Amino acid sequence: MELTIGKHAGFCFGVRRAVQTAFDAAKTEVPCVTLGPLIHNPQEVERLERAGIRAVASLDEVEPGQTVIIRSHGVTPDVYARCEARGIRYIDATCPHVAHIHELVRTYSEGGDAVLIVGEAEHPEVVGIAGWAAGPVFILPDAQAARAAQLPRRAMVVAQTTIRRERFEEVLAVLRERVGELTVRMTICAATSQRQQEAGELSRQADVMVVVGGRNSSNTQKLYETCRARCPRTLLVETPEDLPEGAFSATDRVAITAGASTPQWLLDQVRARIEAGTAQDSAKE
Ligand code: SF4
Repeated sequence: MELTIGKHAGFCFGVRRAVQTAFDAAKTEVPCVTLGPLIHNPQEVERLERAGIRAVASLDEVEPGQTVIIRSHGVTPDVYARCEARGIRYIDATCPHVAHIHELVRTYSEGGDAVLIVGEAEHPEVVGIAGWAAGPVFILPDAQAARAAQLPRRAMVVAQTTIRRERFEEVLAVLRERVGELTVRMTICAATSQRQQEAGELSRQADVMVVVGGRNSSNTQKLYETCRARCPRTLLVETPEDLPEGAFSATDRVAITAGASTPQWLLDQVRARIEAGTAQDSAKE
């Protein structure tokens, strides 16, 4: 069997860095909590909890002596100020790409100019970015919202890092017509599109494509659909136990990809199970 693992499968750089930061912090025996869940993967959350790291919903839940880990989404400046005012120690695992957007927003809006964010208003990354603006902020989820908003004459536009490129372009087309002096900062992160593109290419060549990730994770679902459209034998599994018996033969070309919240160890377990299964099958032949 020929087995290929996607180079962009699983965690993006920012999430990997934040998770590693948390596990490193757990080794120091300083009690730590994360501000909001670090990752949407039940198996990884469980592993973090076993290492002594759990999530709190707000700084009010932080107990004396606990250190707060700021996740890759980043936070508003107010969170740092509140930590300092209350003497709460923190470890900042904000993704550097997101921190760069904070800086763009902070410097552009210093004089009070408006910032437009193409993204979802409730997304924690967008909430964090908005907090760095010194002037008005407009959050525009789509072109329709951009048409309906009372926009200023001058503004800078940035994007939530995970928003689809087409959506950003649609909003931008409206903004170019409606905002006289528009500064554009294209801040979409390549991690999501690289993973999708690679999965599409792998599934075109594979006999069996395995997508590892949570069934209710939207990016995993999208990966699955992309692969399924190119490879009819595409399997979506959350854990190695989900792999159906006899799904592979020794001559199959198998490729594996994984959603953004799938940890490497889970991916490795799935790979090991596939290899063990086909080894057994060929021994029987
Ligand atoms: S900006 Fe990119 S690398 Fe950073 S956390 Fe978001 S998706 Fe991951």
